Amino acid sequence: MSIEKMVLDNSPFLIFLLKVGKNLELYYEYFNQKAMRETGFTKDIIGKRIQDVYEKKKANYMYHQCHEAIFQAKHIVFQDSYINPSDITIYTETKLTPIYDRDTKQCTHILAVVKDVTEERLIRLENKKANERLIEREQHFRIIAEHAHDLITLLDNNEQIMYISPSHKRILGFSQQELIGKHYLQTVYPEDRRLVEEKIKLAIRSNSSFKIQFQKMHKTKKWIFVEVSGTPVYDEQRQFVHMVLVTRDITKQKEYESKLEYLAHHDTLTGLPNRYHFNEALKKAITQYEKQKEGLAILMVDIDNFKDINDQLGHDVGDMVIEQFGKRLAGCLRGDDLGARLGGDEFAIILSGISKQNDAVNIAKRIHQEITSKPFSVEEQEIPVTISIGIALVSADKINELALMKIADMALYEAKNSGKNGMRIKTA
Ligand code: GH3
Ligand code: MG
Repeated sequence: MSIEKMVLDNSPFLIFLLKVGKNLELYYEYFNQKAMRETGFTKDIIGKRIQDVYEKKKANYMYHQCHEAIFQAKHIVFQDSYINPSDITIYTETKLTPIYDRDTKQCTHILAVVKDVTEERLIRLENKKANERLIEREQHFRIIAEHAHDLITLLDNNEQIMYISPSHKRILGFSQQELIGKHYLQTVYPEDRRLVEEKIKLAIRSNSSFKIQFQKMHKTKKWIFVEVSGTPVYDEQRQFVHMVLVTRDITKQKEYESKLEYLAHHDTLTGLPNRYHFNEALKKAITQYEKQKEGLAILMVDIDNFKDINDQLGHDVGDMVIEQFGKRLAGCLRGDDLGARLGGDEFAIILSGISKQNDAVNIAKRIHQEITSKPFSVEEQEIPVTISIGIALVSADKINELALMKIADMALYEAKNSGKNGMRIKTA
């Protein structure tokens, strides 16, 4: 076997040699083993014309391509396909090379080298589809992001901002130019930065989502409370692509929460701390007392014959008296004292850090003086008010708040029983 034949027969390509006849007809002169195996052609086609081998349409197409190569005197490459003996469609790329006689300069042959490009074509098609899917997904994302009321932010793996939704302008006051390319943490309240960074890094590492609340930079309001949900996104090779952050302005929610918190701890009529707040504060004051042994006393203050005010002047006037009473009482307190309305016409005060028994009595006297020295003025009526005060002074090493309150109550009861408008002191 000649070397040429060996090379041709073992070529991975289908190789055909066509002879160019006088009338420019094209006759099969040679094809290699691979061509024989792949097309199912037999030696019978040697000497036959293209038109004798293929159906008309295909024959015309090939005939035309060959003539292009002859007349243009250069390679022609075209895409085609055939069905192999196993009935599988093979996509091909064929290169036609015209061969010329050295002397006459006439084209005598056409060499056709056919390469199987089925796999490349499939990969190309798959890539194209994947690309289309990606574009479609991106378009969906953009439509959602551009119309979202929440803020949508994309971060790269260095927490740099890659994309922000237009809603940033409305909610935070920043334009896309002002934020894209910036480090995300620069837009986070300094004390919250560590937590935010940890959450983002952990989510990327563990492919998990997170939700946190923190303060975020606002162009004019400095910092606003936000709730952020973060989800890392990976590609088909499981490579991190970006972090999607959906941010919601929760300023209103926070305001509402603190309003609720305030209402839960305060009396609506006087604005003073309520019984719940008082009990919490008393627990703390007792703990503090037990640790530092600084003096602690409770004053229970109750208006004398308040029912008469209600009965004679009406409940509304009674309310206004309570309101003003609360103000006067609060005005008598030192910075660390806590005055609360326990309910009705009953008020209580925690005096902590008092150094001697007299301090508690002096404060009680001051309150008594302040309330009784001048009448309350409601709707042009002068309403004189007197009060009774029960004082519980802590001296034991340990005390619980219920026992302490009971003693203060008893002191008040005694003050009332001994003619009202005065005070009694008891030691707990
Ligand atoms: P005492 O001298 O023994 O304290 O008698 P009092 O008439 O002041 O009666 P007491 O302290 O036992 O009861 C307080 C009364 O205050 C009971 C109720 O009629 C009235 N009251 C309770 N809460 C309110 C309120 O929010 N507004 C008004 N206007 N009255 C209230
Ligand atoms: Mg009363």
